[in-house]
Amino acid sequence: MRKAERLPVQRGPAAWNAILPARAASAPLDGNLRVDVAIVGGGFAGLSAARRLRLLDPTLTVTVLEAGALAEGASGRNSGFMIDLPHDLQSDDYAGKGLSADQEMTALNRSAIAFARDAVEDYAIDPAYFDPAGKINGAATETGRKLNVSYAEHLTALGEANEMLDAKAMQAVTGSRHYTSGLYTPGTVMLQPAGYIRALGAGLVRDGVRVCENTPVQALDKAGPDWVLTTPKGKVTAAKVILANNGHLESFGFAKRRLMHVFLYASMTVELDKAALSRLGGQPRWGVTPSDPMGTTMRRIDTAQGGNRIVTRTCASYLPGMVASQAGLDRAAKVHRRKFADRFPEIADIPMAYSWAGHLCLTWNGVAVMRELEPGLFSACADNGLGTVRSTLTGIAAADLLLDRHSATAAHFLAEAEPQKLVPSPFAEIGANLYFQWKEWRARDE
Ligand SMILES: Cc1cc2nc3c(=O)[nH]c(=O)nc-3n(C[C@H](O)[C@H](O)[C@H](O)COP(=O)(O)OP(=O)(O)OC[C@H]3O[C@@H](n4cnc5c(N)ncnc54)[C@H](O)[C@@H]3O)c2cc1C
Repeated sequence: MRKAERLPVQRGPAAWNAILPARAASAPLDGNLRVDVAIVGGGFAGLSAARRLRLLDPTLTVTVLEAGALAEGASGRNSGFMIDLPHDLQSDDYAGKGLSADQEMTALNRSAIAFARDAVEDYAIDPAYFDPAGKINGAATETGRKLNVSYAEHLTALGEANEMLDAKAMQAVTGSRHYTSGLYTPGTVMLQPAGYIRALGAGLVRDGVRVCENTPVQALDKAGPDWVLTTPKGKVTAAKVILANNGHLESFGFAKRRLMHVFLYASMTVELDKAALSRLGGQPRWGVTPSDPMGTTMRRIDTAQGGNRIVTRTCASYLPGMVASQAGLDRAAKVHRRKFADRFPEIADIPMAYSWAGHLCLTWNGVAVMRELEPGLFSACADNGLGTVRSTLTGIAAADLLLDRHSATAAHFLAEAEPQKLVPSPFAEIGANLYFQWKEWRARDE
């Protein structure tokens, strides 16, 4: 038996969920259940796997078991950039691993976006939650501009559309005089991530998938050809299981010392009133990623997405214990306030309504863990910080593998190497956090 050594602990509210109308979570599992496929985790990976399975074989009985409520985990705690292009967070300027690898990854990312777009259509998901508006890499310094130029050259070599913006154009979009230039790319979809995840879950339920929220899987056990999943109030017997619980894959003893548990932090303002909106100016919706991957992401959303608000995302910490502390969140929230005030001095007095942390799972060599771990037990984990697309893809790939469908998506992940072993804690923890601090300091104006 594999017992879950840890279950998710969320720090701070999932703001994207909190700003939407309240919803009742589906009932936790109460009793015993037998299904064809059980999926552990109801984020991008788990819900995408469930949809893919049902699309490929509508006769399958599929259950998703989610430890918390839908959109309360990282899938409802991100910045909502569903990015089509290479976006290598370990590089200096996002360029990836060379032209052909980047072309392959871009095609896969676009297939994830197409998959999500089909779900938006099939389940009549609010278009404000899936806005194909593109994004801007903002630059505030000459170093940032050079990073954008180098990334733009890479994109042009890939044959990808991109457009340089000057300071005036940046101000017209964002209302901020902070940015001296920017690089616009059209293919990113801007999600209201909680809106998308909730509605995807609701669509799956209408399609016949059972989604049990507040149902942590505490243990996995083999019983003959089946798997038995233990939850607080019942057991699920399943012919096959997909672990779509991202970093908590390690909590069941898999990929030990190969997964990097990184927390990112973000804050969201209160709703901006009329006076603040007129002081702010700019457009009602936009998304700015930093020209340096370790800089600050900013996003403006509007009424249809949960109110006129600004989201600030920066700060990262490596936490092998998988729990972000309140003190760490408080520190990050102070940085958010400062970054917000730097960019929007005219509305620097606007309070933050929410600050939160969210759990990413990276691997040193940037690979996912998408494979058959043991007979009948599959994984769709390790988002590498880009889970709106990457976890959608691993979810699709795990479903394909489970049903023995030979797809390009599954082939891509199956061809990846094992996640590289990490140096033992506490060296890894100290080293990684110092590295983050240095990179964040270097990117402090971006
Ligand atoms: C502040 C922030 C900003 C980000 N911005 C972006 C962005 O702009 N674009 C982007 O692509 N990515 C972004 N990300 C990353 C993105 O949120 C993740 O990559 C994505 O959520 C991963 O999806 P997932 O389904 O793999 O994992 P998760 O969303 O973590 O889902 C896994 C689920 O498994 C559940 N679970 C775990 N253990 C168990 C168990 N034992 N039993 C049952 N359920 C369990 C968890 O509760 C969780 O809901 C950001 C993340 C943060 C924190």
